[in-house]
Amino acid sequence: MIRVDGVLVSRGEGGVYGERMLGDLRVWDPYRSKLSALYHFGKGIDLEPGMRVLYLGAANGTTVSHVADYAEVVYAVEFAPRPVQDLLEVARRRCNIVPIMADAAQPEQYAALLEPVDLIYQDVAQPDQATIALRNCAFLKRGGTLILMLKTRSVDVRSEPIVVFCDAVSELGSAGLVVRDSTWLAPYHHDHAAIICAKERTTA
Ligand code: SAM
Repeated sequence: MIRVDGVLVSRGEGGVYGERMLGDLRVWDPYRSKLSALYHFGKGIDLEPGMRVLYLGAANGTTVSHVADYAEVVYAVEFAPRPVQDLLEVARRRCNIVPIMADAAQPEQYAALLEPVDLIYQDVAQPDQATIALRNCAFLKRGGTLILMLKTRSVDVRSEPIVVFCDAVSELGSAGLVVRDSTWLAPYHHDHAAIICAKERTTA
């Protein structure tokens, strides 16, 4: 990952969402991107050339564009028509984003378009976020990583965030993933936790 005087950046064509530029480097704002917030806490895994990424909840392509600046290819799944229009424009200007209009809860819709990936990044505000992530882990290579951005209020607005968080961790662990790390994303994003899991080489 590239940092300039402590500022996280990515190298790529700017003008995607009005991001600030430092020369040819795009400033990756932690208030605009939960993944950037995670990196500001010194957590997560480094994005590297050669990495294949499945991105669930691509929205307008803001964070997708930064991931694509680092990775080899990003399969970007989004189901809402309006953000997909913006995502298509972002993908048109980069050669390594594969936009997919589909429901992440139904990975069979796009299974034929994918290859095994090194990283699954999920940011969808749904009640069954852990279940959706697990369904998509069929595409994750052994030794690969899942980063789940858990929006606790979307799971259950009446439960304490910590309870929702513990339930999600338990569901992921029960399915055979190893929870390596986690963090809350405040002050950048409230009621959001990042859960980082590994699909071990020896597990299902
Ligand atoms: N990750 C984006 C970023 O950092 O630029 C922001 C994602 S936004 C918080 C969540 C997005 O997930 C919305 O665009 C929403 O339409 C999409 N979404 C929610 N449920 C989905 C599903 N089941 N399948 C695909 N996309 C979904």
